[in-house]
Amino acid sequence: MAKGVSVFKDPEKTLYPKLPDVPDLKEGDRGLVRTKLHTFTADDPVGPKLHWDPIHRADQDPWKDFREIMRIEWKMEITYRHCLGKYSKFFIELENKKFYATECPKCGFVWAIPRPVCPDCLEITTWKELPGTGTLESYSISEFVPAFMKVELPYVLAMVKLDGADSLFTHQLRNWGTDRSKIKTGMPIKVAYTKEPVNHPLLSMWFEPA
Ligand SMILES: [Zn+2]
Repeated sequence: MAKGVSVFKDPEKTLYPKLPDVPDLKEGDRGLVRTKLHTFTADDPVGPKLHWDPIHRADQDPWKDFREIMRIEWKMEITYRHCLGKYSKFFIELENKKFYATECPKCGFVWAIPRPVCPDCLEITTWKELPGTGTLESYSISEFVPAFMKVELPYVLAMVKLDGADSLFTHQLRNWGTDRSKIKTGMPIKVAYTKEPVNHPLLSMWFEPA
């Protein structure tokens, strides 16, 4: 298995080299787009680190062309408006450090992740606050995530059965330390809430060992 690298802690070890410093675009600077265009070949995310050579990679790399990247980098300022619909309450309450699920008035099933309508009974559900504790039911450890996911590696994706809920909730497990053998199904888990501003409401929370 390839050893995980953090895109934050060690920028020298990321797949993508640091771009040369080119001045920011100003109005009328049409040529700057071409100036800022930077072409490079990204590292193979799996090959060399695995010492695995099924197609005689040492001599040639048949996928090199596919990893050629053209990148432009400049500052953008964008205001996003997220429309969360029926899930709004869930995300708003996360900011209040409260964890909400929905309960079916007919069968009593408690859905976390919340569902506006019970898929079994087609009844409109009602909101129900949960204590935010639970048990790790399943998990996977990922050594590689897409570059847009700004997370440290390895990334642990956990499926948690929250106390008071009947379904499983999938989200990142953080703060589990450095010894991955301590991550075990059945271990107690709690919901943790961010204190920092986040790029998406879903990042307002994560799981960690209780
Ligand atoms: Zn139901």
